[in-house]
Amino acid sequence: MQLPNIEDYIVDVMDWPKKGIVFKDITPLLENPAIFHFTVDQLTAPYLTQGITKVLSMEARGFMFASAICYKLHAGFVPARKPGKLPRPVISAEYILEYGTDNIEIHECAITSDDVVLIVDDVLATGGTANAAAKLVKDSGATIAGYAFVMELDFLKGRENLDPDIPLHVLLHVSGD
Ligand code: AMP
Repeated sequence: MQLPNIEDYIVDVMDWPKKGIVFKDITPLLENPAIFHFTVDQLTAPYLTQGITKVLSMEARGFMFASAICYKLHAGFVPARKPGKLPRPVISAEYILEYGTDNIEIHECAITSDDVVLIVDDVLATGGTANAAAKLVKDSGATIAGYAFVMELDFLKGRENLDPDIPLHVLLHVSGD
């Protein structure tokens, strides 16, 4: 049986949300039941027997994949959100943007030192968001089982900014051509 090519279900949107950016629109993938199912299975495959207790994901597109992975792994879901969105006390991690910095936050009680955490997002670009997510997990005293990304924008070399000791699982590599 030929495996589906998930790249066929990701649409490049030029100059969005601003000039010079090629936005990777994953909504066609989400809309296709078989491809979405396949993608979630592939993202989860290396982590089925690692005792993962929590899946942390960054808003907003990572949430769709992460919650489906939680269901497969019988794990809890931890949303990492932009500042000011979560209603109870938070811990925060900063990351660098093209101009300036930003933060992501989780509830301070969301992850404990007993947890084994998988970090999930749709796109690995510069790695800033993924690094901040790992910092939140480390600050909580938990173990990081790994990262799972639908795609990596190889030309941005984001993986070079990540902790090399954290396993990195990527389904699709995108070159800058
Ligand atoms: P970064 O922190 O630079 O690795 O950026 C990763 C985050 O930004 C992820 O949450 C992605 O959803 C989003 N992102 C970055 N670049 C793109 C892109 N070209 N298309 C879609 N989403 C992107």
